[in-house]
Amino acid sequence: PRRVAPALALLVAAPLALTGCASEAAGADASLVGVAMPTTTSLRWIEDGDNLQAQLEALGYQVDLRYAENDVATQVDQLDSMIDAGADLLVVGSIDGTALKAQLARAADAGIPVIAYDRLIRESPDVDYYATFDNFRVGTQQATSLLQGLGVLDDAGEPTGAAGPFAIEVFAGSSDDNNATVFYEGAFSVLQPYLDSGVLEVPSGETDFASIAIEAWDAKVGGERMTRLLDSVYAGTDLQIDGVLSPYDGISIAIIDVLKGAGYGTPARPLPVVVGQDAEAPSIKSVIAGEQFSSIYKDTRQLAEVTVAMGDALLKGESPEVNDVTSYDNGVTVVPTYLLAPVVVTATNYESLLVGGGYYTEEELR
Ligand code: BGC
Repeated sequence: PRRVAPALALLVAAPLALTGCASEAAGADASLVGVAMPTTTSLRWIEDGDNLQAQLEALGYQVDLRYAENDVATQVDQLDSMIDAGADLLVVGSIDGTALKAQLARAADAGIPVIAYDRLIRESPDVDYYATFDNFRVGTQQATSLLQGLGVLDDAGEPTGAAGPFAIEVFAGSSDDNNATVFYEGAFSVLQPYLDSGVLEVPSGETDFASIAIEAWDAKVGGERMTRLLDSVYAGTDLQIDGVLSPYDGISIAIIDVLKGAGYGTPARPLPVVVGQDAEAPSIKSVIAGEQFSSIYKDTRQLAEVTVAMGDALLKGESPEVNDVTSYDNGVTVVPTYLLAPVVVTATNYESLLVGGGYYTEEELR
């Protein structure tokens, strides 16, 4: 039910029905769109790929959808072969944001426009457009939600006066993904004053991006870091962790598993407030069960819709709609961007937001 956004389904169904050209448009001369996605190890990217494919095909385009399983060389090969096959447009959810310069240069030489999908492609002049969620805001939302879970901020985001100190540990995403730095900067723009005033403490002392980045967003590595922190900082002390800033749901689940294995999750030692990102079904189930505190909902249907509209405009020689032309400097050029709004999801609003919004059925969250 959540493959194609209802609004878009209407938009595309009408003109196709009028002209009756659905099958014709998908014929031999239909433009080919290469869609390169990073991995199938996280549910969100499967949704992204499915949504893009369905929406592009509904407009009559041919789609070559590939996943690179977080292997940069594989993604490079996939882009090369899409260019060789005569792709008319590339949509790229990159793995290493700085590793695609040569492929993008080839695309530019061949006149193939490139849309960076969700993740900014860096150090290349050949990124034409970028479609994403407001990444800085994701970070501020994660941090605000963490502070709300701790009771430092109220539901409206106003300080409650709680003095703490609360012990938190912080995790960040993969250093080759530009988003990870932006999430981190957003989160610390909110957390830093509370760290400075002593309301929050990070007992491990590990707060700089390099020490807390989890390469390839690998949940297993995230769990291993949590284990290391517990063993080296907390074991044999009275210290308990009150909160964890986790950048992504897969890592949040791994962190919660490690904490439960170490005795957290009892009345005497409750699980800390753990945040996340992507509203992946296992994490929403965890939120419903009272374990993970919150996630950040990024409706992949909307992102596909915006990206497909951009691509469609480019393929028709029109100018795509953007709403941000200043924020995303990729080191060489400022990439015109369409930014969508992320939303915090908790036990209180998941039902109306995710089930009501048609993102999940009740059964999928059982
Ligand atoms: C995306 C996040 C996702 C992360 C791990 C980031 O680039 O923006 O939504 O959680 O990658 O897949």
